[in-house]
Amino acid sequence: MKKEDCIFCKIAAGEIPSGTLYEDEQFRVILDLGPATKGHTLILPKEHTANLYELPDETAAEAMKLAKKMALLLKDKLHCDGLNLVQNNGEVAGQTVSHFHLHLIPRYKGDGQKINWVPSEPSREELEAVRKEITE
Ligand code: AMP
Ligand code: ZN
Repeated sequence: MKKEDCIFCKIAAGEIPSGTLYEDEQFRVILDLGPATKGHTLILPKEHTANLYELPDETAAEAMKLAKKMALLLKDKLHCDGLNLVQNNGEVAGQTVSHFHLHLIPRYKGDGQKINWVPSEPSREELEAVRKEITE
């Protein structure tokens, strides 16, 4: 996708209105339009990169610092009981907008949301084969 067609570029640049919680030179932080829970927040770098693979190191580091700051703000203001930090890469992983973003999803006791996977039960040998595949 070209940057000119990217909706998150337009939102980050302020060309499309959004529920902005915070803005600085590098980032805009907005409320998700289809929130999983009350206060579901998105951290958008203003510079376009499609996903984590392409993200500059410095932006990655700053994004995580900002995630911590926003998590503390959400905890303080919304009194959530927990929070999921989610980041999807690729359609198969649930990414629907090809502009890197972090989800901050406040969690409340009994909110009924599911942001989980079904664990499998590989043997030690299978785990070791995966470890080798990744490290060798
Ligand atoms: P992902 O599936 O990780 O790519 O996340 C995309 C997120 O962007 C979804 O949670 C959508 O609800 C949200 N979203 C899409 N368009 C907008 C928009 N214009 N303003 C705010 N959030 C949006
Ligand atoms: Zn973009």
